[in-house]
Amino acid sequence: MAKSDHDPQQAAVYLMEKRALRGHFRHKCTLTLLRRWARRLCRLHQVPPVTVIVRAERGFGASYLNNRITLDPKCGRNMLSFAHELAHHVVAHRHPYAQDHGVTFMKWYACLLDHMRVLPLVGMLAICREYGIAIAPVTAVQRHPQLTHRSNTTWLSKNAP
Ligand SMILES: [Zn+2]
Repeated sequence: MAKSDHDPQQAAVYLMEKRALRGHFRHKCTLTLLRRWARRLCRLHQVPPVTVIVRAERGFGASYLNNRITLDPKCGRNMLSFAHELAHHVVAHRHPYAQDHGVTFMKWYACLLDHMRVLPLVGMLAICREYGIAIAPVTAVQRHPQLTHRSNTTWLSKNAP
């Protein structure tokens, strides 16, 4: 079976990232920040914790396998590559039969980028339209992490009923 038969959107998604979102690959985040996002988002979306490590990756900036995200120190330690691999993690647990870069993956990828304030949802929807990438409706996904006592105490005390 040709690769495109079970993951027909893969090439389009990679091309879209390279052309429309390339600026993000030049950024570098601390591992502490990425691990904090990983903990928070896994808890929010009720999937098992994921390990985030930095190690040289041949050919790819990042990869995901068995609850582990590996980011290349030169080109993978950015919010975009991290969100891409985290979307694979969420989909692997919540929708195990979904295509690798299919409509469900794109929905989670877009939502995670929106949650992390990297790219608003409407931005990703517009980019998907431009590149002919199919994406599942996002209404079923919680748009933003709920504010909790720990995440923003000032907001809560000011807006308490
Ligand atoms: Zn991928």
